Amino acid sequence: MLDDIATFDWQAADAAYHLHPFSDHKTLHQEKIRIITGADGVFLTDDRGNRILDGMAGLWCVAVGYGRRELIDAATRQMQSLPFYNTFFKTATRPVIALAERLTAMAPGDLNHAFFACSGSEAVDTALRMARTYWITKGKPEKRVIVGREYGYHGSTTLGAAAGGMVDMHRQGARLPDFDHVMPPYWYGYGGQMSPEEFGLYAAKQLETKIKEIGADNIAAFIGEPIQGAGGVLIPPETYWPEINRICRENDILLIADEVICGFGRTGRMFGAETFGITPDLMTLAKGITSGYIPLSAVLVGDRVADVLINETGEFYHGFTYSGHPVACAVALANLDILENEKLPERAARMGDVLRAKLDAALGDHPMVGEIRHIGLIGAIELTSDKRTRRFFEKRGRVGTICRDHCFANNLVMRAVRDTMVFSPPLTISEAEIDEMVARATRAIEATYDAVR
Ligand code: PLP
Repeated sequence: MLDDIATFDWQAADAAYHLHPFSDHKTLHQEKIRIITGADGVFLTDDRGNRILDGMAGLWCVAVGYGRRELIDAATRQMQSLPFYNTFFKTATRPVIALAERLTAMAPGDLNHAFFACSGSEAVDTALRMARTYWITKGKPEKRVIVGREYGYHGSTTLGAAAGGMVDMHRQGARLPDFDHVMPPYWYGYGGQMSPEEFGLYAAKQLETKIKEIGADNIAAFIGEPIQGAGGVLIPPETYWPEINRICRENDILLIADEVICGFGRTGRMFGAETFGITPDLMTLAKGITSGYIPLSAVLVGDRVADVLINETGEFYHGFTYSGHPVACAVALANLDILENEKLPERAARMGDVLRAKLDAALGDHPMVGEIRHIGLIGAIELTSDKRTRRFFEKRGRVGTICRDHCFANNLVMRAVRDTMVFSPPLTISEAEIDEMVARATRAIEATYDAVR
């Protein structure tokens, strides 16, 4: 085993050979990167012997916590009986059929069919291809524009990045024609004097304005995350999604809920669509579907689109070698057992409120904390240079990065999005671990305040 070779310089080898995702490689190796060597429950261990509280559940994905025997056993059993077979040419495997049946039974509304892929990005790509194929089949090929939102994140394939609203990604080859964006329901940042409810309606109405500008006849679909995660955990006011539902219906525009983060209990219900009253035509799922133990994603397809794809389109020229990988599907089934048996969505709702109350008590009055927001076990601490006027820091992102580093120094993983500290711990986190998380976050924010004021 390589990790027995104590003298091997992992950091040097990483710098020499490994290109990291979403990283500036020039600055990445100015300090020694941490090598994560193990994990258990909500804690990671690194090569220096630190025990780090993972306030991000990996990348929003390790819902059931690390080290779950049930998932390891499910993978082992499936690897032994059938490690791989594809689902292309009139074949399937039992795990993929069982998972399709299970997911569609769990899902809200009429999402009665499932298509599988490996990553959230591929699921989004698939949903967009399905939406456009639907309109082409219906004889309306001009309905092809996809409307997303600023600060939306829908993955890193070119279609997903174009649908997302991250301008840095657009600049690097992902600005495509027939993609457009509207404002996010970011009350803290853009709400001004409006109440959250007023602002929710206002933000949703921007879609109506965009539709008037482009023409409903040219728009295939609107895509949105129930909560914009990578955009800074932007939790929409209650009024937002019902209005988006109405606008999409009235303009005959398909609605895609990107539940890659929100799905599988994170918001306190199994799906974000249930928490916010969204009625999607298509839903993308990943991350929590296997708690990140193995890559898998899915698109759930509502009857309207499925009927056309099944009965009218003919062959849908799309799929992946690992669509419905049997080992990944077996792990997903074991993961769903845990989510349901341990009632993790309900637990997320309960523990999220506990976490929020403790954060409010520790940090609510802090001069640099503008807003603490959460639903279930996803939330954010918005740092501000002026609490009263909700002013952003001058150089956006600098303070957030400092705070993220202080979190790491305190053995806590929290992610910084601009100057907002976001969290999404495993849904299994205990009250004692929440106390630890809040204590570490408080130390990090105080150290950041001392450093920047
Ligand atoms: N959609 C959403 C809402 C996401 O948050 C992400 C990843 O964070 C993706 C899609 C892309 O998923 P992946 O990184 O698995 O491709």
